[in-house]
Amino acid sequence: MKKSPFESYLAAPWKAEYVRKKKDSNECILCAIANKNKSFTAWEVFRDDQAMILLNKYPYNPGHLLIVPLDHFEEFDMLSASLSSHLTILIQSSIKLLKKTHFPLGFNIGLNIGNVSGASVRHIHWHIVPRYFGDYNFLEILGTRVMVETLPQTLIKLQKEIEILRKNTF
Ligand SMILES: [Zn+2]
Repeated sequence: MKKSPFESYLAAPWKAEYVRKKKDSNECILCAIANKNKSFTAWEVFRDDQAMILLNKYPYNPGHLLIVPLDHFEEFDMLSASLSSHLTILIQSSIKLLKKTHFPLGFNIGLNIGNVSGASVRHIHWHIVPRYFGDYNFLEILGTRVMVETLPQTLIKLQKEIEILRKNTF
């Protein structure tokens, strides 16, 4: 009987090795950024004692942010209630910030859990993608796009309004 693509995926030994490797938090890029490992440059917007907000290095749209707990968690259901609510406040503050700096018409807010979901980094993180008039739907924007704003320009805009994050998180 012919195997489904799903079964072949599960049976592929090289994939199992890849999954095991990715579980090793020593190799986690977000842990390296959280620990300020100099070999990883990050576009950091904000940080407190529990989490950080980064610019996505490969943004789907200008102002695409990542909300990342400093500690390595791979499962949403493993987060404590206090960390979850702190991260939610950071998501809300980021929306307020982007409304002020980028005037989006809407947002896509996403959390990918596990390799099969499309998560390329297992350390849990939220994507906040501001949406603008005339941009594409969420899947189409994964392709090649011309960015109308560079990362340094985005960072300068956000840092001018950083008080919004400070006021809302402390
Ligand atoms: Zn990590």
